[in-house]
Amino acid sequence: MAPTFFNNRLTQLLHIEYPIIQAGMIWASGWKLASAVSRAGGLGILGAGSMYPDVLREQIRKCKAATDRPFGVNLPLLYPDIEKHIEIIIENRVPVVITSAGSPKTWTSILKEKGIRVIHVVSSSAFAQKAVAAGCDAVVAEGYEAGGHNGREETTTMVLIPQVVQAVSIPVIAAGGIATGQQMLAALALGASGVQIGTRFLASDESSAHPDFKKKVIEAKEGDTHLRMHKLVPVRLLQNEFYRRVEEAEARGACADELKEILGRARAKKGMFEGDLDEGELEIGQVSSLLDDILPAETIVRNLLHDYQHALEALTANR
Ligand code: NDP
Repeated sequence: MAPTFFNNRLTQLLHIEYPIIQAGMIWASGWKLASAVSRAGGLGILGAGSMYPDVLREQIRKCKAATDRPFGVNLPLLYPDIEKHIEIIIENRVPVVITSAGSPKTWTSILKEKGIRVIHVVSSSAFAQKAVAAGCDAVVAEGYEAGGHNGREETTTMVLIPQVVQAVSIPVIAAGGIATGQQMLAALALGASGVQIGTRFLASDESSAHPDFKKKVIEAKEGDTHLRMHKLVPVRLLQNEFYRRVEEAEARGACADELKEILGRARAKKGMFEGDLDEGELEIGQVSSLLDDILPAETIVRNLLHDYQHALEALTANR
């Protein structure tokens, strides 16, 4: 049975049933995934980092048509068309925005004036305090296990969450290495008010990632993902031909410019959306090694809640 006691600060803030936020992953998080997660009682998120402004507008429209429940947009602040995206988000009254990869100072107050909830992604308690100073409503604290862009501090979720919880008084959403109800329980035990889940939702029926990439994700084994591109932005990647070229270049001390040249343009799209598993950039979390199936998003939410409840009962029974 689904737990009934998720009436906490985060569910109240976001008007959702369960404190489960789907990460707004580039090339994987369109309206089908976001609306399915929101319909299941979590918060679905559109990944705007891979959307041109017109695409974002259309995705918001479709998401609204597919659910009357709240959903959000993830906006990497280094996105080239950020002003247009902000305008579209405001015009279309998107209820929640999750910002990442930049200073929360620039846009938070503008979005909040329009009644939009703003959550910022951080990788340290110092950044969490900056998000509070900028007026954010909550933070996503994302640990080292996470896929894609990663913090330079390399702090694991287990260590990061209690420190961020201690440093700020706004709700903390734990991210990085969370795909099961047991892991969700652990995150809440560390003081988080909710969880943000990426990799598990990427391997869903509704995710727009290429089917071959989804298959590669569920076949991943322990140790198959690592951080690369340390001199640019550290990114957690699955190993493939492209990864090995970067690894070789980094081992001989390649500078940022050489890494940029190897990366080229649109490599994330090539791997994750077009399914070029050799030459594409395959961003995914460590937790991929725990997954062995591609499921409907609603089943993922139900399983999380079921396993959370079981784990909680097992702990209580063993006391
Ligand atoms: P690149 O510069 O290599 O390529 C740009 C890609 O983004 C292209 O595939 C392009 O699509 C697409 N795109 C969408 N909107 C625009 C736009 N307004 N202008 C230019 N290109 C656009 O970037 P990446 O693929 O590495 O990253 C794209 C975005 O995703 C960035 O905003 C980045 O911050 C974010 N990102 C976030 C990550 C995370 O973990 N949160 C991880 C990696 C990236 P097309 O090929 O069709 O032109």
